Amino acid sequence: MFYESTRGQYQSKVSSAEAIKMGIAPDGGLFVPGEIPLITGEQLLEMTALDYRARAVRILKAFLSDYTEEEIRDCVAQAYTSEKFDVPEVAPVRTPDDALYFLELWHGPTCAFKDMALQILPHLLTRAAAKTGEEASIVILVATSGDTGKAALEGFKDVPGTKIIVFYPARGVSEVQKYQMVTQEGTNVAVVAVRGNFDDAQTGVKNIFSNADFNRLLQKEHYRLSSANSINWGRLAPQIVYYFSAYLDLAAKGALSPGEKINFVVPTGNFGNILAAFYAREMGLPVNRLICAANVNNVLTGFIRTGVYDRVREFHKTISPSMDILISSNLERLLYHLSGRDHERIREWMAALNRSGVYRVDADTHARIGKIFWSGYAGDDETLATIDSLYRRCGYVVDTHTAVGVRVYEKYTTATGDGAKTVIVSTASPFKFNESVARAVLGENAVRGKDEFRLLEDLAAATGLEIPAGLRGLEQKPARHRKTAGRDQMLAAVEDILRAI
Ligand SMILES: *Cc1c(COP(=O)(O)O)cnc(C)c1O
Repeated sequence: MFYESTRGQYQSKVSSAEAIKMGIAPDGGLFVPGEIPLITGEQLLEMTALDYRARAVRILKAFLSDYTEEEIRDCVAQAYTSEKFDVPEVAPVRTPDDALYFLELWHGPTCAFKDMALQILPHLLTRAAAKTGEEASIVILVATSGDTGKAALEGFKDVPGTKIIVFYPARGVSEVQKYQMVTQEGTNVAVVAVRGNFDDAQTGVKNIFSNADFNRLLQKEHYRLSSANSINWGRLAPQIVYYFSAYLDLAAKGALSPGEKINFVVPTGNFGNILAAFYAREMGLPVNRLICAANVNNVLTGFIRTGVYDRVREFHKTISPSMDILISSNLERLLYHLSGRDHERIREWMAALNRSGVYRVDADTHARIGKIFWSGYAGDDETLATIDSLYRRCGYVVDTHTAVGVRVYEKYTTATGDGAKTVIVSTASPFKFNESVARAVLGENAVRGKDEFRLLEDLAAATGLEIPAGLRGLEQKPARHRKTAGRDQMLAAVEDILRAI
């Protein structure tokens, strides 16, 4: 199977190993599979009895056709271990009240769904480098608003042939997120606080990627830059697996009749997670609707309803910060598939987005999107009320992002009357965004004047849940990374770090 750029100006069709090594196509587009492999009903049935790892091998093999089965098996075995994931199912489906199903994707080391892909990406990437004759060491640069940085650090720490440097906005992450990063262990890792916001960090990283002189210099010293963001196909492919796995778990339990279609609700930011669900559906997984849940930064809701993408609006900081995003990069891949692989129109739309912040897709493409997707959004007050009422109704605690999903699903059933079985994708442990969760469950008075570490204890005591290993005792660990940089000093920081690690 070959991969090509959504924009069609990078003429080569590349292998999956090349797509993963390069991260982004040289014409600015994203790599997409030239065809989508199909899974038959019979194959699906066969996979029911398999565990998560074996299911992952089947799905990844279909997309990464230039890796041997043994290589994929090896990558999977190193990623989804019982040391790294705190439940044997890896990605369990829970049914707290018989009406809703939750696919819990946060049992990995950093307590958010990013681990599902970032635990395996380093293995796929180092094999990609070997397969394509790459001799340089890979340097991963990450700009993070919180969750991706820590998950990437955990994934790449001590992986031979790689170094990883994470930039986070000094004042833009929660205390827990900051401690998770500055206490990071490993011999090939570095973490830098950028004096600025997330956009400053992101722009700084993009500038380093596109600095031709610097990249030539790196090449001489046998380094090659790469990306761990969700524009990399190596992050998307592993996310397809858990949609299959959730379906198969429900089928194995007898909750579904053969071929029965289900809905997935996905709390969405960069459109990576829900795009993986789209690929699963295109492969033949019996899926009815994909419900895209947004917070008040509801660009995607507007787009799915009207066909107009309009990012010219105020940016809101919310209690579901991983969805505070106005440019959802992976949407470009969806447009490629649903416009009939029309490179020219994709280039026009992306140019318009760049130029004016707005584009409108044609009526046919919009109609195709509307057949598969539905979208709604929830504000912070609704999100808190949803956490509270779900906890009271069935004792189940969800994080703020997942709560947005639950609320939007309620709106969906009211609007459509659709009674199909529905899986809510749960993207983070409630302990990861514990301040808001504690406020919802314990009340305003219980959180006043307390820091996030104290609230972890209080939330655990009140709910009877255990604080996940990755968050336990964080504040007592030594801070190992104290480097800070202004936006203009990020390149110099990379040079310093590469001399030191
Ligand atoms: C990253 C993230 C999201 C958004 O996922 P996308 O793939 O960017 O759409 C939602 N919830 C949590 C907790 C996240 O970390």
